[in-house]
Amino acid sequence: MIHNFNAGPSILPNEVFREAADAILNFNNTGLSILELGHRTPVFTAVMDEARSLAKELMNLDDDHKVLFLHGGASTQFMQVPMNLLDLKDTASYADTGVWSSKAIKEAKLFGKIDVVCSSKERNYRFIPKDFAVPNDAKYLHITTNNTIYGSQWQSIPTTSNVLVADMSSDILSRNIDFNSFGLIYAGAQKNIGAAGVSLVVINEQILGKTKRPIPTIMDYRNHIAEGSMLNTPPVFAVYVCLLTLRWLKKLGGLSAIEKINNEKAALLYNALDSNDLFQTHVVKEDRSKMNVCFTMKNSDHEQLFQDFAKENGVIGIKGHRLSGGFRASLYNALPLSSVEYLVELMQSFSQKHG
Ligand SMILES: *Cc1c(COP(=O)(O)O)cnc(C)c1O
Repeated sequence: MIHNFNAGPSILPNEVFREAADAILNFNNTGLSILELGHRTPVFTAVMDEARSLAKELMNLDDDHKVLFLHGGASTQFMQVPMNLLDLKDTASYADTGVWSSKAIKEAKLFGKIDVVCSSKERNYRFIPKDFAVPNDAKYLHITTNNTIYGSQWQSIPTTSNVLVADMSSDILSRNIDFNSFGLIYAGAQKNIGAAGVSLVVINEQILGKTKRPIPTIMDYRNHIAEGSMLNTPPVFAVYVCLLTLRWLKKLGGLSAIEKINNEKAALLYNALDSNDLFQTHVVKEDRSKMNVCFTMKNSDHEQLFQDFAKENGVIGIKGHRLSGGFRASLYNALPLSSVEYLVELMQSFSQKHG
């Protein structure tokens, strides 16, 4: 048995893997693979329609908020957001809370003035800044709700009168929040909702159409909204895997149900880390991520030993990102509680041997 703590692409529910595999051979008893169907056939448009409406339902979105499935991963959104929302002379505010935030900032600078209103960089991204002001005339405030690499998370979403834009790649659909309070949300699918190759984007239509810049057809959100996410050939298989995961999530009881499980998993692992003398965590307690748990060992000689011990025992994907080092256990929606229990047992037996 393998316990998969990969940070992304990452674990998905077993039934999703099975149904996705079936669809490659014979999709919905059509006798055809989902990979050889026209994307404008009724069987596929039904997939896109259901995926968009399920996402809307799970996030409890109002009618101004449109759901899109777009190509290019979250990194494409780093540029597509400012291209659509910012003129060159305008200013947008960004919170710098980790590696992905800083990449979003770098790309946005190509499209306007970027004001970094807060940053935890000087303290190695150990916390989420709390006291900062956003200028009234900032076109939007961009935050990264969960910092995948350093393991911090906004536990409460900042209230602001500015348009709020969020990169939710690594905690989308993991908890109940007021998704309608955002002007724009984007998330690469490969962490919590599906296969690599597609991003979920949620946009409040009212924020669009306010810039003067000419926007290439494929980059203009309004065109994607008008065409129901079928402006060009969508990544059909990746969208289908998202649909299967959304169905699984709904069957489980939606965001309240998954949030409860995610809280339980994170509490179990953090308690084990806090009560074990060999391990230490990176992020201050109140800002700890429930999705990516980052930790190191007080004695760095132990790190390779624990890494090997985990691997021998079927735990994979806990090596930390090359920038942060140490370990990172990703506890996305599909990771079962039993895998966290198993990892905690391994930590305990390791510390009995080496403590
Ligand atoms: C993984 C990740 C990205 C990059 O996603 P791609 O789909 O590879 O472009 C961006 N932001 C966050 C928070 C991430 O975790």
